Amino acid sequence: MRESLPPSDDCLFCTLVRDGEHVHRADGFVAINDINPLAPIHLLVIPEHHIDTFRDIVEFDADEAKRMLEFVSETARLADLEDYRVVVNVGAGGGQTVFHLHWHILGGETLAERNL
Ligand code: AMP
Ligand code: ZN
Repeated sequence: MRESLPPSDDCLFCTLVRDGEHVHRADGFVAINDINPLAPIHLLVIPEHHIDTFRDIVEFDADEAKRMLEFVSETARLADLEDYRVVVNVGAGGGQTVFHLHWHILGGETLAERNL
């Protein structure tokens, strides 16, 4: 696996990976509750390995990328979600406000009609 960059004190999500309240944790990944939930269950999956956006996903090796996706799925399963939405906002124009890659898991209600 590629070495993670050292955690940054300047990055909110690097700080939360280190010191946040994790609802689920596995090697290299954490899940937290979103502070401003947009659905009854709104989790964020954050990799320890800091990349600014999904655009830079090439910096993850294949094993790391696969384990991240498995962690997203496992996090939803542990939250008792069967139907849910996974969202990655990419860049300011895509709605991204925190520039450390993260995955939103939204669920707990029917989202089919909702534009999140
Ligand atoms: P995005 O807009 O895709 O970059 O998502 C950033 C998310 O981080 C938003 O949904 C925020 O509500 C959430 N957020 C910001 N600060 C915190 C925090 N301290 N703890 C948990 N979630 C946070
Ligand atoms: Zn970071």
